[in-house]
Amino acid sequence: MEIQRHDLVIIGAGPGGYVAALRAAQLGIEVACVEKEPALGGTCLRVGCVPSKALLESSLYFARAKAGLAEHGVQLGRVSLDLAAMMTRKDAVVKGLTDGIAELFKRRGVTRYAGAARFTAPGGLLVTGDDGEQRLVAQRAIIATGSRAGALPGVELDGDRIGTSTEALAWSEVPGELVVIGAGAIGLELGSVWSRLGAKVTVLEYLDRVLPGMDLEIARETQRLLKKQGLAFKLSARVTGARLVKGRPEVALEGGETIRCDRVLLATGRVPNTEGLGLAAIGLATDERGRIPVGAHFATGVPGVFAIGDVIAGPMLAHKAEEEGIACVEAMAGRAAHLNYDTIPGVVYTHPEAAGVGKTEEDLKGAGTPYKKGVFHFRANSRARAIAEIDGRVKVLAHGETDRVLGVHIVGPLAGELIAEAAVAMAFGASAEDIARACHAHPTLAEAIKEAALAVDERAIHA
Ligand code: NAD
Repeated sequence: MEIQRHDLVIIGAGPGGYVAALRAAQLGIEVACVEKEPALGGTCLRVGCVPSKALLESSLYFARAKAGLAEHGVQLGRVSLDLAAMMTRKDAVVKGLTDGIAELFKRRGVTRYAGAARFTAPGGLLVTGDDGEQRLVAQRAIIATGSRAGALPGVELDGDRIGTSTEALAWSEVPGELVVIGAGAIGLELGSVWSRLGAKVTVLEYLDRVLPGMDLEIARETQRLLKKQGLAFKLSARVTGARLVKGRPEVALEGGETIRCDRVLLATGRVPNTEGLGLAAIGLATDERGRIPVGAHFATGVPGVFAIGDVIAGPMLAHKAEEEGIACVEAMAGRAAHLNYDTIPGVVYTHPEAAGVGKTEEDLKGAGTPYKKGVFHFRANSRARAIAEIDGRVKVLAHGETDRVLGVHIVGPLAGELIAEAAVAMAFGASAEDIARACHAHPTLAEAIKEAALAVDERAIHA
């Protein structure tokens, strides 16, 4: 078997891997990327962020058309759903983007291998694909194999009625009753999609709150707004099992209660894809959660082997993986590579959206950090009123002595877009005063951020 030699081999073409490959090529590093799925882009593009955002948008149009346009003076006749067309559009969005990556690989000279890679020795890889096996020798390798939906003991996934996000992105009919297990981002986003399309959705969550990790005030407000839209929540409810009984799912809760429904979405977290990579062959051990420990510049304990994204510690977010991939290859090219984990935003694409960057109020209280808090409600923002999106608020948390912005949290219209301003400000070490003094166009939703920054010193104009 002929051996192919490369300066850098990246395993996995998700947002971590493909972005690292493209940046490496820009930097003049000779690079190959191995991907086992026919389409590039990883979970995010194929069965995650992108298709879910496509369905979130389409389902929001449907929900608005059914109820919500009358207040704008728009009267519609009977509104009906063409779910197949909605799914076809989603698939086309995915195909356009995954094909786009294949095209970028070609143009930038990234060699693509189709198959699953595993280490046979440090620097040695075996790629097994439909066309047989291929041996690679890599001076350096980056593991960017991402994550998959984790199992929950007792929950019998059947790839259809009791499914994970992958199935819930492609159901061919709207379930009458849908039970969502887990009130994280996936549960709330896909729960929203099916609720808008007509399902009666019940979210079961083990904790006494939704969206763990997000600022509590924002999470509670998000839950309240989703409840108003018809989603039911059962908190402090631990699911112990789910199985088909006479063809219909039955979900069991601790304490003995059972719930019958038409479909179940399991969304209780994801686990890193570190099995089957031959890590033992190179003496690389994972931690207790199956993650790969890394040190400076994402180097593992094995010389020449690096790891980024969902397979290492930190939030499982596409943009975090991207930044790590870029920092990793820039360090290889001898550039200064730095990633500030305090300025990585998180967005939940419900309606309204919830977003945050930096420390939560709970983080600051826990650490005993002195802080000031400025809150501004969208109902006092003129653009929000003009577009009839008055729910939600912006919260700015600044250091009690230095005024430096430590966290910004938003639930409200386009929170996921607005949070970028906060992330940039924090990347530059802004104070609340800096944001408050920056001119914001009027009327814009972004003025709510300026007002929340002013509210830190109790001088919001429109409060
Ligand atoms: P998650 O970890 O965010 O939430 C899972 C929830 O399930 C938790 O609240 C947990 O308490 C609950 N849970 C666990 N066991 C349970 C049980 N037995 N019964 C009831 N509830 C239980 O996980 P997720 O929503 O599946 O998302 C996985 C990963 O993907 C996360 O890291 C998430 O940040 C990421 N993601 C992010 C986005 C986004 O940023 N928009 C979207 C999708 C996924």
